[in-house]
Amino acid sequence: MTTETHAAGPPAADITAPPTTGAPTTGAPTTGASTTAAPTTGARPSAGRELLERFPVIDGHNDLAWALREAGVADPASIDIAAPVDFTHTDLPRLLRGGVGAQFWSVYVPAQLQGESAVVTTLEQIDLVRQLAARYPGALELALTAADVKRIMADGRIASLLGAEGGHSIANSLGALRALYLLGVRYMTLTHNLNLPWADSATDEPAAGGLTAFGREVVREMQRLGMLVDLSHVAPTTMSDALDTAEAPVIFSHSSALAICDHPRNVPDAILARLAANGGVCMITFVPTFVSQRCRDWDLSLAAEMERQGLDHRDLSSRQKFKGEWVATHPRPGATLADVVAHAEHVREVAGIDHIGVGGDYDGVDALPAGLEDVSTYPALIDALLDRGWSEADCSKLTCGNLLRALHDAESAAATLQAARPPSAARLADLDS
Ligand SMILES: [Zn+2]
Repeated sequence: MTTETHAAGPPAADITAPPTTGAPTTGAPTTGASTTAAPTTGARPSAGRELLERFPVIDGHNDLAWALREAGVADPASIDIAAPVDFTHTDLPRLLRGGVGAQFWSVYVPAQLQGESAVVTTLEQIDLVRQLAARYPGALELALTAADVKRIMADGRIASLLGAEGGHSIANSLGALRALYLLGVRYMTLTHNLNLPWADSATDEPAAGGLTAFGREVVREMQRLGMLVDLSHVAPTTMSDALDTAEAPVIFSHSSALAICDHPRNVPDAILARLAANGGVCMITFVPTFVSQRCRDWDLSLAAEMERQGLDHRDLSSRQKFKGEWVATHPRPGATLADVVAHAEHVREVAGIDHIGVGGDYDGVDALPAGLEDVSTYPALIDALLDRGWSEADCSKLTCGNLLRALHDAESAAATLQAARPPSAARLADLDS
């Protein structure tokens, strides 16, 4: 994600439109008629929209919680997301129009936060998402298991899962990791944009060479708990070490394909090719600099100029400020929905149709591809895939089937691992000394 400061949104009424998602399954799609309400445009629902009513999107990454926190109001939980919010990519009406049936809400905190401040801020983010889920019981419910996700989606509401974005959120403590699990966190991205003492990030200088012994213990303990190991943001060496260590499926909550766009946040083919044996899922993301080489090259020139001026381009707030001026003399290219489709097709080709999902990174970026501007646009993506010849079964695997399977398999693995070993008492200082 990036940081972008917005004005607070308007107050509004309670949600009134009933959600229209149908019961999803992980198997072949049904052929039953859709019972959807009319779409807001008044036009006939598209094929993509109809498919999403039967197989809603489980999206891997959304930064609404941080966007609300940054809105500059005393109580971010007081911002009414049941009405259109004009400073975010996400609100309940748009989620429903977009056919979103489950959302991993990121409880992101900046990687510059370390130690206890990272943990406390993560707890505040968890509290915010849990307050939102409690405030809108007609639209949201906290989901802790694959069965919860299926039940809540079948009920036409949005299953709300928690994802922690970076191991700084546990301050090198497996006890803190277990506490996050108890609060509902169901994935943790091993790093954000900066290295940890025990894991290398994709966007920092190599230091550990992947995962250290403690880093591998973090992976083992996450999988013993049933928390998905998220390999977005980590270096390829860390991806590889995590896959070598893994006893359960891993995910990429918001990453695209390196072969299509040369950005270190994307996944190399050699790693994508390992997902079939692992049972994992690469949830492709829409971030323009990850999906479009033109956008990536523009961003590289911006970073080079910041470096020339002695500025830290990895500091997201400093980068955001610099970008505001840079864009005046260097027009920013845009990405398109077709760029994202190219990534979907590549991941399907290399990882396989059983190992692809979506993680838009809405509210974590300040720009999105044309056609995918906010969370209401998933039907356009599915329409495009159907136009490219994807079958309904393939699309249903991408929207929800694969992630449901991975979550279920992670739970089964956890049950086995818990019978085999107790909670880990390992400490960073002992393992990595
Ligand atoms: Zn991210």
